[in-house]
Formats: sequence, C-alpha cells, structure tokens
Amino acid sequence: MEPKRTILVIEDEPHIVLGLKDALEFEGFRVLSAGAGREGVQLTRQERPHAILLDLMLPDVNGYQVCEEIRRIDPFVPILMLTAKSQEADKIRGLDAGADDYVTKPFSVGELVARLRALFRRTQRPTETTSFRVGQVVVNLAQHTVERDGRRAETLSFYEVELLRLLHERLGQPVSREEILNKIWGLEASPTNRTIDNFIVKLRRKIEQKPDKPEHILTVYGFGYKLVE
Ligand code: CA
Repeated sequence: MEPKRTILVIEDEPHIVLGLKDALEFEGFRVLSAGAGREGVQLTRQERPHAILLDLMLPDVNGYQVCEEIRRIDPFVPILMLTAKSQEADKIRGLDAGADDYVTKPFSVGELVARLRALFRRTQRPTETTSFRVGQVVVNLAQHTVERDGRRAETLSFYEVELLRLLHERLGQPVSREEILNKIWGLEASPTNRTIDNFIVKLRRKIEQKPDKPEHILTVYGFGYKLVE
C-alpha cells in the first residue's frame, strides 16, 4: 500500500482546521496542523509535508512571509492559500510569494480537495534521491548512514542529512552559507557562520578519505560550500 500523503494545515481558526482535518482524513490523507506561522515553518522543516494549506491571516507572521519562508525550505511542495480576501491584488501577491493556488473563504471542502488533487497532478517533484555515492562512500539519506565497502561506517544527524541533501541537489555548484543557514537551521535558530564551519569539519570526517585535504565537500572561499562526486 502507498504511504499516506501528509498535508500541513497552517490556520489559526480552530473550526476551519477541524473541518479540513475531517475532510482530508476522510480522503485518506494524514493531516498535521499549526495555529501560527512560525510553527508552520518549523513543521515544514521537520515533517516535509506533501502539500500545505496556508491561511493568509495568521496571529504572528503574515501568510505571504510564511509562504516565502516555506519556499526557501522546499521549492516544490504544493502550497494552496486560504484567504478571506477576494481582491485581485492579494491573490497576485500570494502567487508571487510562491503559492501554487488559492481558495477564497468561505470555500467548500469539496472544491478544496479537488484543487489539492489537481495540484498534486501538476507539481510533480523530481524523483527523490535516497542514496548517492561520494568518493569512497555511499550516503544513505533515508537510513541516515554513511556506508563504506557496503557496511555502515557512520551515522548522520538530522542536520547532516539535510545539509548533504541540499548540497547533492546542487551537485558541483556552490551553495552559499546564507542559503545553508536559512534552509537547514532556519532564521529562528540563527547559528553563526562558525557553526557551519565546525559542522562541515565533522561532516568531512565522516565522508572524506583525508578530512584535512577534502576532495568532495569543498570550501568555496568567501561564499560557501559545494559537493563533488
Ligand atoms: Ca486566520
């Protein structure tokens, strides 16, 4: 059986959350919910939902900012905006911020589910890589391991897996420290550049033959890092 798709609902009105949860669970989805923008961004980072329903008017951060933040974490996840506003300008702004579609409140749950299914058809994310070879080792993102000669040699932390995933998505291209900070740790946590550098040192020990002479996780001076096979 196919694993259930996870939908994240970011909405502060409990009765709407409840209605959506019932309807979406009935349709066979797994539903997570966040009552505020920051919590929604955090859940996106942790849970990697398959789609997000995002209210525009949230108690802490507005929906546009949340949308932009989510796009930095996941460029592909379908985002459907829920908005009480019907003005053209708001819709355009939402789409500009990275939303894929919107429904105007009050909406029918049937219409929302239909739009969600259409989004899934339209936004096919690239096939997800679960493991790849780097030099002498195989990085297994699903198992959180580094394998050497077919055997588990190292265990990777959550942040190490996410950083390797990001670098591998952009194989051979430099990724800036700023982007790494935003995507992996998020703006809330705000570790320093030095945190990343120390982190890279540890990661090299797990991946490289000679960690002090790296051949795969390379420093791009004054910018960031890149991964080469
Ligand atoms: Ca609201």
